[in-house]
Amino acid sequence: MKIESFIRTIPDYPKKGIQFRDVSTLFQDPRGFRMAIDMLLHPYAGQPIDKVAALEARGFILGGAIAHQLSVGFVPIRKQGKLPGETWEEDYSLEYGEATMEMHTDGLEAGERVLLVDDLIATGGTCEAGIKLIKRANAELVGCAFIIDLPELGGKKLIESLGVEVHTLCEFEGE
Ligand code: AMP
Repeated sequence: MKIESFIRTIPDYPKKGIQFRDVSTLFQDPRGFRMAIDMLLHPYAGQPIDKVAALEARGFILGGAIAHQLSVGFVPIRKQGKLPGETWEEDYSLEYGEATMEMHTDGLEAGERVLLVDDLIATGGTCEAGIKLIKRANAELVGCAFIIDLPELGGKKLIESLGVEVHTLCEFEGE
């Protein structure tokens, strides 16, 4: 079975015009979840990776499984106000207004090789904020891995234009 066949589309969620690509149907299927983790890791086999960072919230489910598989540590990148320790902040644009992502200042060490993970890349704004946080720590980004790319929103191209490798497993049309 192809990975996209495990992903459910919910029209007009969270608002009209958005086709919500719901990975909970992928996560709840034992073969689907296993396949997603294996496919996300495939290009990095044999490459040294010191930490996995992931974007709240669905990225955590993937990032935790990937970090466990690699026997490395996991670092959460969260929405503002959720992390208890000292953090760095990066603002990014949403369709309406701005938001902020945060990472603990002691989450990564300088020079560590980091893989950044989330479920989906759309405009790339969330991912770009994550990349900036990883760079603030002077860590080295190995790449960014997502299950889903929405190519019409241009996020993958944006992140690649920053010189970062982007690995995606499938594409869907529209927003
Ligand atoms: P962006 O910053 O525009 O690349 O948006 C990516 C973030 O928003 C990810 O964390 C996704 O989980 C979420 N997201 C954006 N668009 C969708 C969509 N159509 N379906 C599901 N999640 C989405």
